[in-house]
Amino acid sequence: MTAACLWVIQVFSSSVSTANLIGENHGLDVIFCLIPQYTTKHLHTIKAAINTFAALLCTKTNVCSVVSKGYISGLLRLYEDWYSKDTQHAAIEIRHTLLRCLHKVTHSTAGRQAVISQGGLRLLYHTTQTDLLCKGLESLIDPSVQLMRKCLPKTPLPLTSDLSAYTFPLPGRAHAVPDVATDESREESDDEETEKNQEAPSTDYDDDLETDLNKLCLRPDPDRPKDLLPQYGRLCPEHSHDFTELDLSSEPEESSPSPLSSDEEAVLLNSLSLHSSRMDRRKTNSSNDLSNSSSGSQSQTETSTEGNTPATAQFVAGDFQSHSSILVKEARGEAPSILRGNEQDIEEEGTEEFHHCTMIDSLLKRHGACILHHEPKLYRAAAAKTKSIPGFSILAFPDFWGHLHPPGHEPMAPRKPNIQREKVFEDVQRFLNTHDIINQVVYDLEGSSLQCLSDSLRFFSNFECGNLRKAVQIRRYEYDLILNADTNCSQHAQWFYFEVSNMVADVPYRFNVINCEKSNSQFNYGMQPVLFSVREALEGRPHWVRTGTEICYFRNHFCPAQGRCRTTFYTLTFTITFKHNEDVCYLAYHYPYTYSALKAHLKVLQKSVDPAKCFFRQQILCKSLAGNSCPVVTITASPASRAWKDMLQLRNRPCIVLTARVHPGESNASWVMKGTLEFLCSSDLVAQSLREAFVFKIIPMLNPDGVINGMNRCDLNSEDLNRQWCKPDPVLSPTIYHTKGLLYYLNSIGRTPLVFCDYHGHSRKKNVFLYGCSVKETLWQSGSAVDTVGLKENPGYRTIPKTLDRIAPAFSFNSCNYLVEKSRSATARVVVWREMGVLRSYTMESTYNGCDQGIYKGLQTGTRELQDMGLKFCHSLLSVTKDLKDLYSRRLIDLDYNILDHKSHNFFEDDEPPCVEEIEYSTDCPKLKGTDLDSDINTNIANVDEEEDGGGSEDGHSGAKQWQGSIGKSQQSSMKSCLFPHPIRQAAMEKLSEKRDKCQGVTIVNGQITS
Ligand SMILES: [Zn+2]
Repeated sequence: MTAACLWVIQVFSSSVSTANLIGENHGLDVIFCLIPQYTTKHLHTIKAAINTFAALLCTKTNVCSVVSKGYISGLLRLYEDWYSKDTQHAAIEIRHTLLRCLHKVTHSTAGRQAVISQGGLRLLYHTTQTDLLCKGLESLIDPSVQLMRKCLPKTPLPLTSDLSAYTFPLPGRAHAVPDVATDESREESDDEETEKNQEAPSTDYDDDLETDLNKLCLRPDPDRPKDLLPQYGRLCPEHSHDFTELDLSSEPEESSPSPLSSDEEAVLLNSLSLHSSRMDRRKTNSSNDLSNSSSGSQSQTETSTEGNTPATAQFVAGDFQSHSSILVKEARGEAPSILRGNEQDIEEEGTEEFHHCTMIDSLLKRHGACILHHEPKLYRAAAAKTKSIPGFSILAFPDFWGHLHPPGHEPMAPRKPNIQREKVFEDVQRFLNTHDIINQVVYDLEGSSLQCLSDSLRFFSNFECGNLRKAVQIRRYEYDLILNADTNCSQHAQWFYFEVSNMVADVPYRFNVINCEKSNSQFNYGMQPVLFSVREALEGRPHWVRTGTEICYFRNHFCPAQGRCRTTFYTLTFTITFKHNEDVCYLAYHYPYTYSALKAHLKVLQKSVDPAKCFFRQQILCKSLAGNSCPVVTITASPASRAWKDMLQLRNRPCIVLTARVHPGESNASWVMKGTLEFLCSSDLVAQSLREAFVFKIIPMLNPDGVINGMNRCDLNSEDLNRQWCKPDPVLSPTIYHTKGLLYYLNSIGRTPLVFCDYHGHSRKKNVFLYGCSVKETLWQSGSAVDTVGLKENPGYRTIPKTLDRIAPAFSFNSCNYLVEKSRSATARVVVWREMGVLRSYTMESTYNGCDQGIYKGLQTGTRELQDMGLKFCHSLLSVTKDLKDLYSRRLIDLDYNILDHKSHNFFEDDEPPCVEEIEYSTDCPKLKGTDLDSDINTNIANVDEEEDGGGSEDGHSGAKQWQGSIGKSQQSSMKSCLFPHPIRQAAMEKLSEKRDKCQGVTIVNGQITS
């Protein structure tokens, strides 16, 4: 009878007002009294009582009342009693429900504090350790672990300020005005956060789709007057160049003076008082022969040492001061490391005398690898000109030395079962067992000299792209790492790059990056960070390799040092066992690619091309805020002759505009761009055809300052540059302003680009894919009532993705979409499409992790695959013009043989959002639907991803991310997150096949391109 009454109350409690009413009338007290200490009798009634108690805790008022009445202590004692006496495990369900009550009361700050002060953490830890030993108790572990995670006291990051250690005074402002985030929200408890999360209207992703036909179809007025455009004529040097070299022999120019090269010299002289670091071009024109970049990793000895000058040699000593111990030892030959593969080459070269034989020179001479398209000394010269906020004077070894693709593939790391649980146990122990806690700062970007324990690791990141702010030794072999926020800003930590040394070999070191901000990461799905070992490099293996075990990414208990209490941080934890004692190693989020690397690479490419065949011109688009030049490269074929007909053909070539690295943390985009650039400069026949057909305008690094200063998302003015395209500020976002200016200019002279593509990296998805723009697909997907039958749309925007799907193993057509979202209206892709009328305007997203389809399935991408993607993107361009169609189809057949039809092309199957994966989060609290701590994490797993193009990285408040994680809803959301529900996709394909668009000569029928 009692049980029946309780069930009735439980049902009534589903209404907030009724639950509150019952609470006000002492219902909670009455029901709590019905929950006895351990007994074997009346279990049915007891269960009902606890369940009812839990049900009443669905409201904030009732939770507060329970906490203030001190019931938490009672709940904990009950739990302890049932735990210790229920030795037969007959009442697991009761223990489970007690945990559920505890979960609910700890939604409030006071509740969590009460659990801590009543010894709840220790109790839970202790009970869980016992539960682990008994198979039948498995179901109690995860709720307990989650409860512990939730109750760990919020701990401010050990920083004096959340603001970046780097500030930069913005033009027009007396001082840097960072986004000071000491806002009022400090007062708010995160109860609000929880409630807000639960009650937020589940904003539909479709709400973000642009359904205003005017906005979709009308071209906005230009953002600037026409008379500002002629200045960009200088960026079309192929129009003004006289090609006199065609009349001469194929002798390369002594120093093809680009209009601004003198200006670069000036920068160099002013900044570093070097006398000259200009490469001696007379001696270095020997390597004009470039093989296909995709295959060219080894091979080719370069004879680049002649370029050395006294000034650059002097610069060396400072470059490596932090590595001098290992390097000096090596130079003296004390260590037995011998570079086998290259020994002979070096011996042969060794007869030439070095006038400036420094330590580095001799090391390079002895151990330097022959890396195609990389010259350490060119790198050093480029780095000398790079302007960083802290004024870096040291080069990171891997950037200087160069990286060779590692041999073989690197499979994704299997996720260790229950890894998150294990790591949480270790973190809880920090509070319970402090005897082995060291808690000593061993590196501080801002701090002066630190007293390091002699056996602790040493950290360093004061070099280009480095961004470690602080390292704290927690236990003997465990370190907490804090990343520097983006300059002038207190947010966006995710990317990392730092040096670590003084290690002991064969000992597992645990690293915790504790201030990550994204709510989920591919580190939960098999991705590993990358490591470069100087020792290995000196032994002939200069590779960035994927490394690390026990990798896991989860929400932690840290909060900002000051203010913004609601900011949530995530821990990336991984364990590294170093191979060598006393090595110097570098760890990074992804293969680093510095601004200096780009500059050096462009120089190497410039030297490599045969001017009779390839017109290659590097110019400066503009200066960045910090005064670094933003390069723009023009690549096309030199005309066959200076005859009028050939020159006219050159002038009529359509343009293709490619950009990359607007987001500095997306170094994968730079590797893809590297592949594109090398391919376009190569002697490959397809590359030659492409050069003859198109003029390429490439801006390989839209955000130099962000890259240089180790930022993740923004530019120095703490803005996401890929949100500035609508009205870019000429002073604050110069690279975007002028890129857009160049596009306007091309538009104004009737040379609107045939293709525009902005290369990005994607942190939460696998594969490589494109985002494009389509009015019809946007309207269909949004369920808009607009009649699309009369709307004409050229389906040519699908040609490139379809082609890539066939030829590029890493590419996934299924992950592409062509939707125009309101939240992305200021991105490059949407603005170039809408304002310039570029039909094929794309964002290309490359995974940081690897592929879940095709021949690379289960493998992490390496630089080889990324570069190959850049090459394949070029191949796909063959499909967009009639002239190249024949070549394309011939070529495609060849390629098909090569890749053995790597995909089944059944793109209606397997239509899952790639990020929906089972990880431990989703099973953490099986009985605690939706309201538990990790609902936000579950939500993000199920969601359509964000962001890189769109990038609403700001705590992910884009509409798409609001779906909540209750079980019912997450199923719903995974339906929605599937951007192409089958009926719509099929309809889309049918409509597309109906309209055989003749103007472009491209038709898609049943997923095949025909002409
Ligand atoms: Zn991006």
